[in-house]
Amino acid sequence: MSFEKFKLDEKIMGGVVAAGYKKPTPIQAESIPSIMEGKDVMGLAQTGTGKTAAFVLPILQRLMKGQRGHIRALIIAPTRELSEQTHEAIQQLGRKTGLCSTSIYGGVSINTQINRLRSRVDIVSACPGRLLDHIGRGTLDLSHVEVLVLDEADHMFDMGFLPDVRRIVKHLPAHRQTLLFSATMPGEIRSLSDDLLIDPVHIEIGNTAPVMTVSHSFYPVQMEQKTALLKDILEKTDTQSVLVFTRTKSRAKSLAEQLNRIGHKVTSLHGNLTQQKRKQSLDGFRDGRYEVMIATDIAARGIDVTRISHVINYD
Ligand code: AMP
Repeated sequence: MSFEKFKLDEKIMGGVVAAGYKKPTPIQAESIPSIMEGKDVMGLAQTGTGKTAAFVLPILQRLMKGQRGHIRALIIAPTRELSEQTHEAIQQLGRKTGLCSTSIYGGVSINTQINRLRSRVDIVSACPGRLLDHIGRGTLDLSHVEVLVLDEADHMFDMGFLPDVRRIVKHLPAHRQTLLFSATMPGEIRSLSDDLLIDPVHIEIGNTAPVMTVSHSFYPVQMEQKTALLKDILEKTDTQSVLVFTRTKSRAKSLAEQLNRIGHKVTSLHGNLTQQKRKQSLDGFRDGRYEVMIATDIAARGIDVTRISHVINYD
C-alpha cells in the first residue's frame, strides 16, 4: 500500500515525501481512511507506531478546505514533550500547506502563547492544565474546533488529567470528530471513550510486546549497589544512546551528577527543569551530544529518539 491511495492534497503529499515516509505504517493504513471519512476513531496503539501522522495527515487534509485562522483541530496530550513533538510533526508534514500550528503547555511564558494564539492558528497541540488556564482567561476560542484528538489517553489517566480533559471538552462544539489513542484500555478510558466518541471505528495495532529485535536483561541487585552496577554496565557495554529511567526526580538528578563526575556525557529530564532546560536536554540527547539521559518515567513517556541503543530501568 502507498500513500497515494489516500488521495491526500499534493501539498500534504509534499510533506510526506519530505519526511521520507515511503509507505504507511499499519496504524496509518487502517485509520487514515476512516478518519478522512469523518468517523470517530478509537486507536489502540503505542508510540513508535506512527500514530501521530495517522491523525495529523487527515487533519491537514480536512483543514485545507474552509476558513483559515480559527482553531479547527485540538490535540490534547499528557506531557509537554509529546505536545511539542506533535506540533513539530504538524509543521513537518504540513510545511507546504500554510496551515499554522502551535503548542501549549505549562512551565513557559503564557504571554508568548497568548500572542501566538492572537495570530492566526489552525491547530493547537496542548497539555490539559495550561489549556484550561487559557480557557479560563478567555485567550483562546475553541468554538470552531472540528476535530479533537486525545493522545496517549491512558497516560493522561495515569497522571490524573481525565477530570481536566472532561472539563475542556465542555468548551468544544458537540458536533465534531473525536479521535482517541491509547496504548492500553483501562476501564476509565473505555468509559471516557463511551462518553465522548460516537459510534467509533476501533483500530488495534499489533500486540503490545516489545519488538523481536529488542533483547532484555534483568539484574537482581540491592539498592546500594545499583549505581555501581550502572557505571559498570555503561563502561563494559558498547552503547550508542542510553536512556535510564528512575522513579523520582531527585534520583534522576543525583544519578546524572554521579555519572557526570566520572566523565559520562549525561543529561537529565524531569519535571523540576524549566521547559528550556528540558528542550536542551532532549535536543542534546537526540543529536548525540549527550550519550546518557536520566529521566523520570513520566517526563520521558512517548519521546521519540531514534538513536537509543539501550534502555535501563533503574528502579
Ligand atoms: P509516532 O508513533 O507517531 O511517535 O511515530 C514514530 C516515528 O515514526 C516518528 O519518528 C515518525 O516520524 C515516524 N513515522 C511515522 N510514519 C512513518 C512512515 N509512514 N514511514 C516512516 N516513518 C514514519
